[in-house]
Amino acid sequence: MTKATLSSQELMNQEDKYGAHNYHPLPVVLAKGDGVHVWDVEGNKYFDFLSAYSAVNQGHCHPRIVGALTEQAQKLTLTSRAFYNDMLGPYEKYMSEYFGYDKILPINSGVEAVETALKLCRKWAYQKKGLAENTAKIIFASGNFHGRTMAVISASVDPDARAEYGPYLPGLEIIDYNDLDALRDALKDPNVAGFIVEPIQGEAGVVVPDANYLPDAAKLCKENNVLFIADEVQTGIARTGKLLAVCGDCTCSKSCENKYETRPDILILGKALSGGVFPVSAVMADDDIMLCIKPGEHGSTFGGNPLACAVAIAALDVVKDEGLAEHAEAMGKVFRARMQELVDTCDLATLVRGKGLLNAVVINDTEDSKTAWNICMALRDNGLLAKPTHGNIIRFAPPLVMTEDQINECCDIISKTIKEYKK
Ligand code: PLP
Repeated sequence: MTKATLSSQELMNQEDKYGAHNYHPLPVVLAKGDGVHVWDVEGNKYFDFLSAYSAVNQGHCHPRIVGALTEQAQKLTLTSRAFYNDMLGPYEKYMSEYFGYDKILPINSGVEAVETALKLCRKWAYQKKGLAENTAKIIFASGNFHGRTMAVISASVDPDARAEYGPYLPGLEIIDYNDLDALRDALKDPNVAGFIVEPIQGEAGVVVPDANYLPDAAKLCKENNVLFIADEVQTGIARTGKLLAVCGDCTCSKSCENKYETRPDILILGKALSGGVFPVSAVMADDDIMLCIKPGEHGSTFGGNPLACAVAIAALDVVKDEGLAEHAEAMGKVFRARMQELVDTCDLATLVRGKGLLNAVVINDTEDSKTAWNICMALRDNGLLAKPTHGNIIRFAPPLVMTEDQINECCDIISKTIKEYKK
């Protein structure tokens, strides 16, 4: 591989000097990716166990997705929605059939899709539920992560995400995650328009709720004429071993044709919708909800651009054609069984949890300790990249194209690293 002109250290210094300090990256500077591997600028090879927070489910630089990108990039990249384009209609039809909803509202980043869903929910509340203007409330779950805009950090309980950004958006209520009684109580308020929830809380440390939580929460919402909104930005698109995490134990892993165990009224997608090639996100809903937003009431210059349409179709084709949901389900079982062996034999690892290939290992230490970070540094030195979340939890989320041999090789690296780690 050709050497970069600047060393890793020089590149990190540059980011430090010229970039805002709003991130704390692990010190590794990546220059190339292919499938489950990434390489740093010095040519060292690593297994990627973060997948850009589950955006690169299809593997780095998947040739079919990159092919769709380059082909479309030479024809037409952006028209804005001032005009029609010849990719958007086919993409919208494809998405509607793939996920089983009447309509899609195409947008760019995950948080923009969340904002879109919240705005759509409020519109629906005033037009269809009949709430008085400015009275609608949306319920959030404690420990949530929906992105970084003013609206969603207003519903965050993470001081790092919230502090000194006030005043916050009104009309939000926070209840405990995985607590159906709290939801039942909150739904007594007639001004509640929606309940937004992550089917598994990724950023909170891969927190998996009880099996009945999502179906029962959706049922409670229905009984109270409240929209059930699923944020599947991180959990969606095969990551948890199903097309969507709300599919629960439904065995259909392709396009479910409305057979979701829990069918959200509004479904939010992002990240792997483009296979990590660039920001593409979407909100899906049926006509009675989606058509509450009229021309001129919401949009984005880049939302639904022809390049995004071509990339997303290719990315979703790959998920289906390569059976990534089934594969993630099978590989997740291998990974957790191996990590359970570690938990059973090493005091430093106390718990493994997750679904499909969205998993976490809890490190036996306090949240504010550096142990998980230092273990991630040691993992890096041993050729595997992962990142702690919430101090003492390490998330393990490789690209879904990882083979069983590679999973086992990686479990050897993780087990050895944690066993040999000295505090
Ligand atoms: N929602 C969830 C569940 C997420 O995990 C994330 C990002 O991690 C977002 C929304 C925000 O996505 P983005 O960073 O693309 O805005």
